[in-house]
Amino acid sequence: MEIEYGWCTPMSAEFLDGLKSAIRKDIEDDPDISPCHTGSLKVRLSSTGPLQDSVNGEVECQCGHTLATFSGSSDGSKLTWKLKG
Ligand SMILES: [Zn+2]
Repeated sequence: MEIEYGWCTPMSAEFLDGLKSAIRKDIEDDPDISPCHTGSLKVRLSSTGPLQDSVNGEVECQCGHTLATFSGSSDGSKLTWKLKG
């Protein structure tokens, strides 16, 4: 699955690869997160917290429909997902 990542705020680069692969794994493991149109998924990320140690994100279909949101730690180790209808 093609996933495009976009950042709304600066992210600490040391965690990026781990975070991206954690997000990809969670999306691919969850059959409920499937786009309503063909094409790549868009993941929009923003970091939060005083040390940018937390992350919030949204997964969107190409058409702009939000499929799921998540939040967790910046290294991707603990992501909590919420599915959107
Ligand atoms: Zn769609």
